[in-house]
Amino acid sequence: MIQVNDNFLLLPESYLFSEVARRVKVFQEENPEVKVIRMGIGDVTRPLCKAAIEAMHRAVEDEADTATFHGYGPEQGYAFLRDKIADFDYQKRGIAISPDEIFIGDGAKSDLGNFFDILAQDSTVAVTDPVYPVYVDTNVMGGRGGKRHGEHHEGIIYIPLNKANKYVPQLPEQRPDVIYLCSPNNPTGTAMTREELKKWVDYARKENSLILFDSAYEAYIHSEDVPHSIYEIEGAKEVAVEFRSFSKTAGFTGVRCGYTVVPFALMGHDSEGNEVSLNRLWNRRQCTKFNGASYISQRAAEAVYTQEGRSQIEETIEYYMENARIMRTSLTAASYDVVGGVDSPYIWLKTPKGMTSWEFFDHLLKDHGIVGTPGSGFGAEGEGYLRLTAFNTHEATREAMLRMHNS
Ligand code: PLP
Repeated sequence: MIQVNDNFLLLPESYLFSEVARRVKVFQEENPEVKVIRMGIGDVTRPLCKAAIEAMHRAVEDEADTATFHGYGPEQGYAFLRDKIADFDYQKRGIAISPDEIFIGDGAKSDLGNFFDILAQDSTVAVTDPVYPVYVDTNVMGGRGGKRHGEHHEGIIYIPLNKANKYVPQLPEQRPDVIYLCSPNNPTGTAMTREELKKWVDYARKENSLILFDSAYEAYIHSEDVPHSIYEIEGAKEVAVEFRSFSKTAGFTGVRCGYTVVPFALMGHDSEGNEVSLNRLWNRRQCTKFNGASYISQRAAEAVYTQEGRSQIEETIEYYMENARIMRTSLTAASYDVVGGVDSPYIWLKTPKGMTSWEFFDHLLKDHGIVGTPGSGFGAEGEGYLRLTAFNTHEATREAMLRMHNS
């Protein structure tokens, strides 16, 4: 008999995006003349920057010659990329992170999902609600979620993000061992200020909790008081792991490259109370279970740090953020209740007239030919909201806003 991991059976069928796709397909078949505008996608749409493309071409040529061929690389990532990250993303911002504290991976999703390999399996976990579903589902797979009651798993601590708390995660009543924070946030599009994040760092230090800080949307930050890294907060190196990605920063959703920072100062404890370095354990885990991101992807990521690369990715981010501005301005003028879109490519929209997320989704699709993502798909607190993304073209974004204005 082949026994399966029962925990997987505790997960609901992943229904959100498939249901969105199904409803759009039905609508499009019945209304082939309508030009549907997709604002539900959480994927970038513009091509990779020229600097990254050229670097990949050169890397392919390297692989074609015995003298420059690269086979297995270091499991932690190539020094040429780790050095650039340490320098540009941390040291130049006044944060002392060394290349050996940086682990290159194939994107943030895998590292976020895998990190629990090195933590006690019965740890208590807190997430926000709404939430990027990967945090919850990977914990359920790992046996920490327990049974599902309605929208929640009994073993997980949920921290609501709503209008009443201005979408800022508040400290929980029950102490978690591990806390997932995402800023700028997917799906709400809001970002934590330095002061708000400091409260969490201080709390984690006091309570001996670990913060898993997801800053996949760091490149979209425009507000002065929003930190780009959790390590801008004093003492964070002792309590936080930071996950970053080139996906949304530089359009690498298809190429795949990201990195995780595990500071030397971050210590855990074994079951006998002895101190253990998380950096050492993560290194051990990666050396055993991971063989490195591809040489070609890492050369592409390196090119993002050149002068041309930096200005090219900034141009693309500004293109998306112009869409976000168009959306915010236009929706606010039409009396919609919106947050986000200032430090992230996401707009979190309150449904009008007390509609549920799916009712509003259907209204936008059927009456305006616009596709969003129902907020209820990100958690119970997301009910009554809809997420719109800024990853479309200026033309389609303007057209969508015009359609919503004329409702
Ligand atoms: N974290 C957040 C909050 C995301 O929204 C995403 C992707 O949508 C990821 C992580 C994963 O990014 P990737 O695996 O492409 O690096």
